[in-house]
Amino acid sequence: RFIVFEGVEGCGKTSQMQLCAEWLQSLGVSVVLTREPGGTELGLDLRRLLLQKEEDKPIAEVTELLLYAADRSQHVAQELKPQLAQGKYILCDRYVDSTIAYQGYGRGLDMDLIHQLNYIATGGLTSDITIWLDVDVEVGLTRKRGENVGLDRIEQEAIAFHRRVQQGYADLAKSSPSRIFSVDGSSSKEIVHKKIQEILSVHLQE
Ligand code: C5P
Ligand code: MG
Repeated sequence: RFIVFEGVEGCGKTSQMQLCAEWLQSLGVSVVLTREPGGTELGLDLRRLLLQKEEDKPIAEVTELLLYAADRSQHVAQELKPQLAQGKYILCDRYVDSTIAYQGYGRGLDMDLIHQLNYIATGGLTSDITIWLDVDVEVGLTRKRGENVGLDRIEQEAIAFHRRVQQGYADLAKSSPSRIFSVDGSSSKEIVHKKIQEILSVHLQE
């Protein structure tokens, strides 16, 4: 079983994945926690390149897209396929929908190109269930920085970017209702966890 968690900055993926893993393990299920970018050794190097961008070494937008695709291709080949073949439950932080939301909606790159690269990288491997933790962009960014910090001008630009990403997730959830389940991520950790339990309990039986 392949379960993916998606959402904008500060949506609570990390803590919900942890709670979900503990719950599944308590039911005797063998769980693997992984993430993109960075689910393999090569991927960790790519993650560093992608997320610790240095100002004097800008990454062109299509280069960025290709690096995410390279990370995914390695992750599918080295981790996801072998673990799924062993019957493990995989909980993955981000997958193909992140590329559609961030590089497609966020950066405005060509959607056909993104779909082609996603297909090349995954060989068609899709999640059984994707949980989209839906939180307001400002709420998410504020969580990341700690409460009571004003949003300055530079961050306002970032907010426009994250709003487009959020719209991407909303459109994806609408167009793939049997795969993507949206959960209101602004509720308490416990309530969000309960909702996720409900969704997985129902849909993992199918
Ligand atoms: O929350 P997480 O650790 O997954 O964040 C990684 C960051 O990488 C995101 O906040 C986002 O800025 C960036 N990212 C991206 N495009 C992707 C995946 C992640 O820009 N396809
Ligand atoms: Mg996180």
